[in-house]
Amino acid sequence: MFTVVECIWQQHDYRLLVLAALTWIVGSTGFFLLLKRACECTPVRRRGWVATAALVGGIGVWSTHFISMLAYQGAMPISFGVGLTALSAVAAIGMFWLALRIWDRGTVSADVGVALVATTGVAVMHFTGMSAIIAAAQIRYEPVLLTKGLAVTFISFTVAFRAFRQYKGLAQIAVAASFAIVAVCSLHFTAMAATSLMPDPTLPSAAIGDSRNWLIGAITAISIALILLTGAAAVIDRYLTDLHGLADATLEALIIVHRGRIIEANASFAEMAGADLSILRDQSPDDWLRAADGLPVISARTAPVEAMLLNVGDAEKILEIAVHDVEYRGRQCQVIAIRDLTDKKQAQRQVEHMATHDGLTGLPNRALFDERLTHALMRAAHTGEAVALLAIDLDRFKAVNDIFGHAEGDRILCKMASILQGVAGPADTVARIGGDEFMVLQTGATHTNDTQTLVAHIIAEVAREMDTARDPTAVNVSIGVAVYPRDATDAELLRHGADVALYRAKESGRGTACFFDREMDAAVRERRALEHDLRHAITRSQLRLVYQALISSDGGTISGYEALVRWAHPDRGLILPDQFIPLAEETGVIIPLGEWVLREACRTAVQWDNQLSVAVNVSPVQFQLAGLASTVAAILAETGLIASRLELEITESVLMKDRALALSTLNALKELGVRIVMDDFGTGYSSLSNLQSFPFDKIKIDRSFVSAIEDDVAARSIIRAIVGIGRSLNLPVVAEGVETEAQRQMIVEEGCLHAQGFLWGLPGVAPARKTSDDSAAA
Ligand code: C2E
Ligand code: CA
Ligand code: CA
Repeated sequence: MFTVVECIWQQHDYRLLVLAALTWIVGSTGFFLLLKRACECTPVRRRGWVATAALVGGIGVWSTHFISMLAYQGAMPISFGVGLTALSAVAAIGMFWLALRIWDRGTVSADVGVALVATTGVAVMHFTGMSAIIAAAQIRYEPVLLTKGLAVTFISFTVAFRAFRQYKGLAQIAVAASFAIVAVCSLHFTAMAATSLMPDPTLPSAAIGDSRNWLIGAITAISIALILLTGAAAVIDRYLTDLHGLADATLEALIIVHRGRIIEANASFAEMAGADLSILRDQSPDDWLRAADGLPVISARTAPVEAMLLNVGDAEKILEIAVHDVEYRGRQCQVIAIRDLTDKKQAQRQVEHMATHDGLTGLPNRALFDERLTHALMRAAHTGEAVALLAIDLDRFKAVNDIFGHAEGDRILCKMASILQGVAGPADTVARIGGDEFMVLQTGATHTNDTQTLVAHIIAEVAREMDTARDPTAVNVSIGVAVYPRDATDAELLRHGADVALYRAKESGRGTACFFDREMDAAVRERRALEHDLRHAITRSQLRLVYQALISSDGGTISGYEALVRWAHPDRGLILPDQFIPLAEETGVIIPLGEWVLREACRTAVQWDNQLSVAVNVSPVQFQLAGLASTVAAILAETGLIASRLELEITESVLMKDRALALSTLNALKELGVRIVMDDFGTGYSSLSNLQSFPFDKIKIDRSFVSAIEDDVAARSIIRAIVGIGRSLNLPVVAEGVETEAQRQMIVEEGCLHAQGFLWGLPGVAPARKTSDDSAAA
């Protein structure tokens, strides 16, 4: 130890030693700062920074050594060979680099290895540098001292690298750099102390020049400058990388534009555009983006604006861009923040679509249709063009749905939707308004003909696509049309007009279309009013029954009475059943009405003491409810009428609807003891088979045959045939509507023993109570 201190004090210019020490303080600090930077980097960048650290460390060690050598003031003049001196520098850098490669492995043993390689590096550098000495002397080393020095160096380096790995913050650099200083200095000075120069006159002596001082200055300056510069580079790199990392970390795509050209773009934008920064750089942002407002991308705006990406093939993206002025790397720039709204917008559009469209057919729904109708009318009010509204209803759809199931019903609806869309013009709107209701809005029809053509097309196309003759699931359409401004002045009235026309179309038969007209409207309004009144007719006691006698055609005795309903309307006067029974059947009012008639007829008949029968007409609609037989039973029980005195008159149409249900009801009624009469016979479809299917108690020949009997041979033949059938089935036959004596004679001639008709008086009030041979009063 003493030798070393003596060597330092006595053989060196200590001012230069201070300079040397300073160089290595800067060098080792720089070395560890760079190593720290390398640790923070991604693997790719780390390699560069490790190499830079090795360069700084190597240069630092080498210049410390070299300045120290120049500080040496031994007895003998010395100088240095350039080649070996340079080689010593390269050796230092190389060995440091190697050491750091090992360091990267991160284990304790790696740290020891690093220290070993670093120690070797410093030693190699030192002795190579020594061998560069030119002096008239031989160099000798003292091995024991040398070994001790190397050991101290090795231990110091080990501590330095361990400390660097373990500490954080300032201590990390300070402790590591301090031990590295100890390591390098101890090796240098013990090696110098262990060195002795033995004069040898055979060797060439060094030429003493006065270049020493400026050489020292230059080396120090260059080394420190190099170290400081790389240190600064590390700091700047960190700052820039962090900035970049931050930009890449956002989900938003970012572009930075300077003077209208892209100078920076983050990874999100590169991915979005499918191009990396090298392609994007120097291009205009307008080459890549187009703002929805049509302005250049970097225009000043108060709010973000929608935009689309160009150059990306057909993957259409909906973006939102916001532009801000920023100062970036000391330049005035615009940063464009781009958000991808594609998914959000698509979801939004889907929700909007669901709210405005029918889920099954994908057609606009009522809400959207109403909106379009309102717009169309507003436009038409200015332009004067016509707007036609077609209300379309599927005939028989309910039956198809009930019989073949909902899947089949859905298929029919979809098919209808596609037919309508195929026929409608591009400017027209086809909508599904409800279950089996569709509407078409025809705009820009210059002539009524255009609408007529459209309607004809729809009917023709439906007929072509749906074969109602063969396909049991096929349906027809009824169409009602109203046209603005001819039929209505606003949307509400136009819809009403189309509805009225549709109603009329349905009335006039399947697969037809009707155009609205005012009389139609009046008729419908009239009907609605009547319908309304009818619902209250029972509770307001406006209904009453009249009775028409059934007579034996030859002798004139009364065998019973038929109850016929009348409606005494407070404003309209007496209304006959032909005018309100169909309406009652359609609206369902026939159910309470029929029950009322039945109860009223039974209650009245109970009061007759002649035991005559009472006949009540029953509508087919009443037969569609399963409870008819029990209703009749209840009324009989309630009124006390014997079942055998009640006759129920039905028409063949009862058997046309739900035949099985009708037959079971008829059988149940028959079991009660009630008699069943076939009314209006001869006008139905398959009379004979109907007669066969159920044991009727009586047949009534429709009055149309009787009224024609005098002039129409065919009518008389039919009467004869029916009477024949009755005789063969052992059924009494009644001829209805006998008005004249001639008619009476003729039916008697044909063998018909029972009759009914104005010949014996008009239907009237109930026969007098408890009388035996009263006939009905007119
Ligand atoms: P309907 O069952 O064939 O009843 C006989 C109809 O012929 C009655 O008409 C009666 O007034 C009429 N009539 C009777 N004799 C003659 C005649 O000699 N000449 C002419 N021209 N007509 C005659 P009304 O009362 O107007 O009844 C018409 C139809 O209304 C009835 O035909 C029946 O189908 C229905 N109806 C009447 N009352 C009821 C009822 O309470 N319930 C149901 N469901 N239907 C009823
Ligand atoms: Ca009748
Ligand atoms: Ca009849």
